[in-house]
Amino acid sequence: MARPGGGYHMTPDEFRRQGAAAVEWVARYMEEVERYPVLSQVAPGDIRARLAAHPPERPEAFEDILADVGPTLLDGITHWQSPNFFAYFPANASGPSVLGELLSAGLGVQGMLWATSPACTELETHVLDWMAELCGLPERFRSTGPGGGVIQDSASSAVLCALLAARARATEGGTRLEDLQAYTSTQAHSSVAKAARIAGLRDDQLTLVGVDGDYALDAEALGRAMAGDARAGRAPFLVVATVGTTSSMAIDPVAAVVAAAAGHGAWVHVDAAMSGPAAICPEFRWVTDGLEGADSCCTNPHKWLFTNFDCDCFWVADRAPLLDALSILPEFLRNAASESGAVIDYRDWQVPLGRRFRALKLWFVLRWYGGEGLRHHVREHVALARELVGWVQADPRFVLAAPAPLNLVCIRHTAGDEATQSLLDQVNASGRAYLSHTRLDERLVLRISIGATATERRHVLALWQLLSDAADVVSASPSATPPG
Ligand SMILES: *Cc1c(COP(=O)(O)O)cnc(C)c1O
Repeated sequence: MARPGGGYHMTPDEFRRQGAAAVEWVARYMEEVERYPVLSQVAPGDIRARLAAHPPERPEAFEDILADVGPTLLDGITHWQSPNFFAYFPANASGPSVLGELLSAGLGVQGMLWATSPACTELETHVLDWMAELCGLPERFRSTGPGGGVIQDSASSAVLCALLAARARATEGGTRLEDLQAYTSTQAHSSVAKAARIAGLRDDQLTLVGVDGDYALDAEALGRAMAGDARAGRAPFLVVATVGTTSSMAIDPVAAVVAAAAGHGAWVHVDAAMSGPAAICPEFRWVTDGLEGADSCCTNPHKWLFTNFDCDCFWVADRAPLLDALSILPEFLRNAASESGAVIDYRDWQVPLGRRFRALKLWFVLRWYGGEGLRHHVREHVALARELVGWVQADPRFVLAAPAPLNLVCIRHTAGDEATQSLLDQVNASGRAYLSHTRLDERLVLRISIGATATERRHVLALWQLLSDAADVVSASPSATPPG
């Protein structure tokens, strides 16, 4: 049963019609997402049990496929776009971003080489320069010099590329792979350890440096560890500093890290995946402090800049070591533009060869909001977090568990871990909000991350009410543990 026109493809005219219905579906989802239980309540296997046992042999009508999405999948979705989503980190999408993604899918280009779509490469280089300007990054990260930016799928890929570039720079100078030593703090994201593993380092080639009372890397301890390793014949080659740790949004002292690394010629990568977008506001630009001495840095517009996953901006001060690490030129990719040296081939800046046209959605977002619009919403999120901090501090049942410099608020119940766990369980089971947790100084802590696109003050107020009611249940329960 072929489709109209003879084959099986969707004609442009049918795409026009069905595309309008799909956009309507997403628009309605945006309108209704607030009403859904934020954390999916399904059991393992529930969703799969609803799917046809065998793949369809006969073509199906698009109306039927689209109509199945809600009943089949929606209660198996954890609603990251809900204004009541406060877990992990914001993954805040937006209309312009989703539409940019649609156009990117429609164009379907592979941007592996400049020649395979010059616009894909040049727009990317340009919006990364725009981002550098908006965030006030040091000049060295602009494409106009030896450095420049690239979009990676994730901050995990960014730290891997930084590590590979650092390794190339160190081994080119004659250092043996087995002598390399990397450093990051105990609070760094797990992607640093993963990158070290992927790069073939032994686990003991990554030192986890201790932190201070605010969970920020202790730069003096870093300096001592590097000096000790150097005396023992090891080669400190990389330090990953975090500006906005995943657990508590701690801010590592980048300038001091740079100073410690300088004596050893170690590469400094600054991971600002979560908090970096705050730099678009002059009053939060301190998140870029010390970057003028860093070799690379990254931030995720797919976390806190209204750009749907995936979009990590990764900048290097000098692209040469990155290209040394990742450039392999097989005959089938040789072309005049690449050989002229006048163009960027982003395949050499990342692990895969193929790459999506991700710059398009970022370009849409930056133009739709403008710097003014982005600053407005980022400020709003920080202001809401500060208001919440005030409520927490005024309530003896709760303790602020870490400084809250931006949009993440870490709290625990005064009565101890069992009580804090009960708060988490009650809130998440209610379906009315979703929180995640961490451990700081061995104590259980609730993380409240404010930054979903649709989150307003009323949602934060409702969350506070929910926490407050849950705390009453805990206080009334005889099993509450003594203060500690
Ligand atoms: C979220 C996060 C990451 C990992 O981000 P992906 O883009 O999902 O790989 C790494 N580092 C920090 C500080 C983060 O907040």
